[in-house]
Amino acid sequence: MNSTLATNGRNGHTTHLPFGEKRDGPLFNQHILSVKQFDQNDLDQIFVVADEMRLMVQRVGSFDLLKGKVLAVLFYEPSTRTSSSFIAAIQRLGGSIIPINEVKYSSVAKGESLPDTIRTLEAYADVIVLRHPETGAAALAATYAHKPIINAGDGVGEHPTQALLDLFTILEERGKIAGSTVTMLGDLKYGRTVHSLARLLARYDVKLNYVSPEALRMPAELVDELNAHGVKQHQAHSLDEVLGETDVLYVTRVQKERFANLDDYEAVKGSYVITPEIMARARADMILMHPLPRVGEISQAVDDDPRAAYFRQVEYGMYVRMALLAMVLGKA
Ligand code: ASP
Repeated sequence: MNSTLATNGRNGHTTHLPFGEKRDGPLFNQHILSVKQFDQNDLDQIFVVADEMRLMVQRVGSFDLLKGKVLAVLFYEPSTRTSSSFIAAIQRLGGSIIPINEVKYSSVAKGESLPDTIRTLEAYADVIVLRHPETGAAALAATYAHKPIINAGDGVGEHPTQALLDLFTILEERGKIAGSTVTMLGDLKYGRTVHSLARLLARYDVKLNYVSPEALRMPAELVDELNAHGVKQHQAHSLDEVLGETDVLYVTRVQKERFANLDDYEAVKGSYVITPEIMARARADMILMHPLPRVGEISQAVDDDPRAAYFRQVEYGMYVRMALLAMVLGKA
């Protein structure tokens, strides 16, 4: 899939840039749809810019890099962190928002299609962040859009900006990604964050361990995809089997909303909980991550453990999303 706007317009449109707009940078004027689109140079640049954003926020709080730019936030599914971090990101960069966090209050509730909604919002905004319950919705929206679309989660498909912030978290917390053993625990079948993260980690020399209830294993197609790239992957029987070698423990919620049958959800919910006892057996330099929300998978008693990185992860997310907005709009 080519995510460049100029070639994606359904009607062959190219995007016309305001006179004098800066054109350089690897993500400039691109949709962000899948982690598959990034090369190593893109990743390196995103993390450099995210670090700069962090320093600027710490020094001055907000600044006018994206003054005059408008972000449309279009969410067809609930969100706390992704929507509010994108909003905080554009506001800290001096831009403004069109918030459609509750599509039930928009014309979507009247039956308006995704393409028409996108065509409308792009008339007002410079970039659109979209969350949608259907896999491929962001890619579909991109075929109609003449402004960049950022995928903020498409069903069980991908969550590329989450994976970028997850990687940035590992980098900031541990200083490096290569050489790490990352254990993913939880709903690996429906969890879009682990799908994107596993694909991104595959670019580095890492080992991936998977621990999940039988019914929620990492999809075979994804395992095959990573195998084809020579990634070291291991399906573990239990967390205990791999805890001692784990540098990064990435825990996810069982994705209740993806189950067709609630009895199936009830059968697996609560099947794993990270407790202080488990943390006591983990490495002293391990970090514990979670994309959040957690609904019982990590005991609150773990929160004060310095290895619990999930609320720091939330903050890194804003810097990464600031970087992405600046880069997509050609201002980084
Ligand atoms: N917030 C993440 C997502 O939107 C993780 C989750 O909901 O469990 O995918």
